[in-house]
Order: sequence, then C-alpha cells, then structure tokens
Amino acid sequence: MAFSRTLWKVNWHRSMFDESHFDKLHEECGVFAIHGHPEAANLAYLGLYALQHRGQESAGIVSSDGREAYCHKSMGHVADIFTPEVLGRLLGDHAIGHTRYATAGDTVLLNAQPFSVACNKGKVAVAHNGNITNASELRRELEREGSIFQASSDTEVILHLVARSRERTLAGALREALLQLEGAFSLVFLAGDRVIVARDPHGFRPLAFGQMEMSGGKSCYVFASETCAFDLINAVYLGDVEPGEMIIVGKDGMTRERYAPVRDRAQCVFEHVYFSRPDSMVFGRAVQESREYLGRLLAQEHPVDADIIVPVPDSGTAAALGYSAESGIRFGQALIRNHYVGRTFIEPSQAIRDFGVKLKLNPVRHLLEGKRVILVDDSLVRGTTSRKIVRMVRNAGAREVHLRISCPPTVSPCFYGVDTPSIAELIAANSTVEQIRRFVEADTLGYLSLPSLREAVADKNHDYCYACYTGNYPTELVNIKQLMEAKENRG
Ligand code: AMP
Repeated sequence: MAFSRTLWKVNWHRSMFDESHFDKLHEECGVFAIHGHPEAANLAYLGLYALQHRGQESAGIVSSDGREAYCHKSMGHVADIFTPEVLGRLLGDHAIGHTRYATAGDTVLLNAQPFSVACNKGKVAVAHNGNITNASELRRELEREGSIFQASSDTEVILHLVARSRERTLAGALREALLQLEGAFSLVFLAGDRVIVARDPHGFRPLAFGQMEMSGGKSCYVFASETCAFDLINAVYLGDVEPGEMIIVGKDGMTRERYAPVRDRAQCVFEHVYFSRPDSMVFGRAVQESREYLGRLLAQEHPVDADIIVPVPDSGTAAALGYSAESGIRFGQALIRNHYVGRTFIEPSQAIRDFGVKLKLNPVRHLLEGKRVILVDDSLVRGTTSRKIVRMVRNAGAREVHLRISCPPTVSPCFYGVDTPSIAELIAANSTVEQIRRFVEADTLGYLSLPSLREAVADKNHDYCYACYTGNYPTELVNIKQLMEAKENRG
C-alpha cells in the first residue's frame, strides 16, 4: 500500500562513518543466464558484452554440460577476457555470467564472479547483482561455525548458507538461504543442468527473462539484468522475475514460485535516472521514455531563457532532449565525448589541472561562443566533475551557464548496490542548492523535484526506492556501522 510502508530513516552523524567505509559499499554489476542452448557460453559472452556498462572491473562465465562445470573469470573488459579459445573451453548448453564493478586492490580477482562451490547439493555457481546488507553478520556467524571464506564479497555468504543447509534438495536449501538475506539481490545460479534465478522480496535490482528461438522450432530461456542483452542475441523479453520469486529452469521446463512473503516493492529509481542503458526495459518500463520525461518535467520546473541546450554526454543526453522538446530551445551536442579513454592512459608527470575531464570531453567552441547555455546532466554527486564541465563550457566562450539536473539532490548513500561516496563527500548532504550553485560556478542551478521524478517513472503505487534522495531506507539497516567496518577490513 502506498504510504503504509515502513521506511527507516537513518540520521547520519559524521563520526559514524569516515569516507573510506563507503568506498567499499557497492556492487554495481550485470548478470546473465541461459539454459539449454548449444552455444550457451558464446551467448553469455554477448549478453555480458551488452551489460558491460554495469561493471568494468572483472567478468566471468561458468558453463555446464550437466555433469562438469567450466569457469573462466578475469579482470578487465568482457571483449578482452573472452577470446575464441577461452569460449571454446566453456562447454555445455547452460551458462551464467557476471560483469562487476569493484574498487581496486589485491583481492579483486578473488572477488570476481561467478563463485562456484561443490557441496552435498552438487556443484553450484552463482552470480549476484546488489548488496546484501546483513552479509557481515551472516559471515561472522558462519565463520564461528567453521566456514572458510576466500573472498570479501557478499555473494560467497550465499553459497555457504546453501552448503550448510539441512534441506535435502538444492531448491529447498536455496529457499532457506535466500530467506536469511536482507538487502538487494538479483541472483543467477547454475547447478548441473538447471538454471535457477531469484530476486529479493523488495525487487531493488532488475532481472528480466526472455525466450530465444532455436533451430528445429525449439526455444530456450534467458535471463539478464537489462533487456539490451536480449536484443543482441535476438531473444524476446517476456517479463521480469518478480520480487520474492525463484524460477527454476530444468529439462522439464520452467517452474516459478514465490519463496518469500510479499513485501513493499523498492525498485531502484537510479536505474532509470542513470545506471541502465536507455535502450533497455527496466522494471517493465522503457528507460529512454523515463529519461526524456525527466527532461520535460525539469524544463517545466526550472525554465530559463537560453540559446542552446547541451547535454553532458552520455548521461544527460535523453533528459536534454526532453528539456529541448518541452522548452522549444535548440539541442546541440557541444560537448564531445571520447569513447576510447582507457584505464591504461598515462598522464604526463607535470600536474595539468582538470586533465581527467579533458580526456573524456571536449567543447565545440562555435556552438558555445557568446551563447546562453543550459547544461543538462542526470545527477550531481560530489560536484567536482560538474564544476570542471561548467568551467570548460565557460572557457569555450559561453556567456551564461545554467546547470539542470534531472533528479533531486543526492543526500544519502546507497546500501543496495549503487556506487555512492560517503555522506561527507555527497555535496547535497552538506550544502544548500545555492551553495552548490556557487561551488559548481553555474549562473543558475535547478534540480528536479521528487514528485516529478516519481511521475517520470510512472510510480503510481510507490514501487520505487528513493533513499538516495530522501534518506528513507525501505529496509532496516541493522548494525550498519559494523557492516561498514567489516567491509573496510575485508576490502
Ligand atoms: P560530480 O559532478 O563529481 O558529482 O559527477 C557527476 C557525474 O557523475 C554525472 O555526470 C553523473 O552521470 C555521474 N555519476 C553519478 N552517479 C554515478 C555512479 N554511481 N557511477 C558513476 N558515475 C556516476
């Protein structure tokens, strides 16, 4: 029900967290699964390729021929990791895959997914998108009882819970394990000739399923964080794995069951604001549609007389188009993005201010010179990038720079899988809009309101999580300080 839900307001105080704690608190990821296709690993590779934007640190695929499991995971980008030789070794008709964003460090490859385990329920591999908020407590309990962990990721906890379960079947053990988890999880499992997927009862992170035609009139099932993965492999989007639902695909077809009681939905609104690709359907809604609508509503709420609307590419493009359509002011791509900026680039040794942003973006002078510019971006987090971009536009000759942000001020960190910095670094948590305007050196600054954000994603039933804009968390965050510290120590 709309307003009967329990929201847990966290009253932040600085001493509770110092910066570094939050830096470890994110698992931005993409997951993929396919059952019953002779080219399972190749298709998982293509699926991950389409989901690359959800995580660029490491990627992995586990395939299975029903008896043996085959695994390859490595640091880096999907296209570099999976050579034809590697894919040739990933045998079998079933596969799951994962692409992960993580902080740097020695232990990172150990944290690359999928994770695999051989236990009394057979061989099980898992890939996870989201953050389990009670993982450190569960882990401590498991360690007390003798479990040995190899990685610092939340996900390993799930496999230990499955392995330890007294339930005799894998499905039973999974049900028991999932019910002990709190927070955000969209999971894909591979066990012999079965693919099993599940979503947390609030449905924080997306997980779509689709069907793919094969030769001989047969078809197979596929699952992915976003539907752009289906488009690449010519699969048809059928719907979403429901919050609190587990789907098992085996040789006898698909079975769907609710493993957890119905809870209030809390779908991540940031998927629509920034994270997902605009060509995806997420939570049953076209992301591009939401983004253009965000821009239209932004133009209604924060109009300003100007000559040109310029998106910060690529994140602000759809909202800028919406702003332009609503205001009638021309849209111009006056910031050009270099898409080939790699992490191997070495900066010259002398300090060059703003080098990072210059590598990525370059202004088109003749579009900006003497112009009153509306600069549109999807979000403003620390404010440091935005300041550099505002300066860049002004240095290219703009007469006025009006910054418009297509979401409300980000005031609270995410505990459910989005990379947000510490409360101390979130500029809107510590400053007024006027102070932020001065910091980013814009002539005016306008954020979209929360009601308009809700309208843009068509959230009539309060199905979304807005915690990063409100500080109202849809789940109780038990022992959050310890959780942070545990992550810090492990990370
Ligand atoms: P800043 O001005 O430093 O706050 O940076 C704002 C930019 O960061 C915007 O262009 C956003 O699209 C981008 N951004 C926001 N959230 C994230 C995130 N979780 N991961 C990566 N980039 C983000």
